[in-house]
Amino acid sequence: MAETAVSNKPLLEVKNLVKHFPITKGIIFSKQVGAVKAVDGISFTVNRGETLGLVGESGCGKTTTGRVILRLIEPTSGEVLFDGKNVPELSKEELRELRRDMQIIFQDPYASLNPRMTVADIVGEPLHIHGLAKGKEREKRVQELLDVVGLSSFHARRFPHEFSGGQRQRIGIARALAVNPKLIICDEPVSALDVSIQAQVINLLQDLQKEFGLTYLFIAHDLSVVKHISDRVAVMYLGKIVELADKDRLYANPKHPYTQALLSAIPIADPTVKKERIILKGDVPSPINPPSGCRFHTRCPYAMDICQTKEPDFVDTGDGHFVACHLHPAAAEKAH
Ligand code: SF4
Repeated sequence: MAETAVSNKPLLEVKNLVKHFPITKGIIFSKQVGAVKAVDGISFTVNRGETLGLVGESGCGKTTTGRVILRLIEPTSGEVLFDGKNVPELSKEELRELRRDMQIIFQDPYASLNPRMTVADIVGEPLHIHGLAKGKEREKRVQELLDVVGLSSFHARRFPHEFSGGQRQRIGIARALAVNPKLIICDEPVSALDVSIQAQVINLLQDLQKEFGLTYLFIAHDLSVVKHISDRVAVMYLGKIVELADKDRLYANPKHPYTQALLSAIPIADPTVKKERIILKGDVPSPINPPSGCRFHTRCPYAMDICQTKEPDFVDTGDGHFVACHLHPAAAEKAH
């Protein structure tokens, strides 16, 4: 009974997560003069077996979020509960154990693979680090993993430079799968690939999810990429999540003006369908000194006086469709 109760809980719960990078001045007596507010109080959950897409323009904090969850960088504050354990509080040994369950696939499949190691060594390394297999057993497991990601056994003896971008990403996926993780953070895994190869890698990730019951946090800058793979989608702007909803709801009825603008930029294949593109004014402001109130007010076509002074709450507008915008009645009610 107890086991069922635990397994119904989200696999990952992020609560009020903050990551500020200090800016210091002076060489000998350096003192902090500011901070880059890369992630500034975000909360979300990822359920077991689902894919949550995390989308936003570059610099919005999505990649930092992924790295803080894995504790590749330390958070400034907040909680990251993975299977009920608060990741920021774990000891080094506990964290090492947990890393088996949480893996990452990086954006640049070439930079993330050691050019001096063969594919067999790259894919087999996590098995060695976690003491899971050695010798012939490790070799066999590597062959199995290569097979799972659509590579051949003879690829094991080759080096990363001998592969195309898509094949290198398959190697990265095989490495992430080696330790049977529960969660994989996919950090822009297809951004560096040609469009035709992107679809192949996304299909592969979907097949693997079904086969191994994986949970994904899929980070991307492009809403059209996350559409196919995500169950729910969270949209980030300047260190905050501004909207989060079930995929179909978000694409059919985006409630935040920023999401509406992002979606309006996606081309439609059907030339008979007319769509008006929303062009946002100005550039994304600096995360060192984000705008007061709603951070999007400097670019929002609907900005009102309240938007400059009062930060909108992130509220559920029904059916798990969360939005942070004063335009929405549920958010406006809380502001008064
Ligand atoms: Fe625009 Fe105001 Fe909504 Fe922010 S709160 S998105 S500025 S309408």
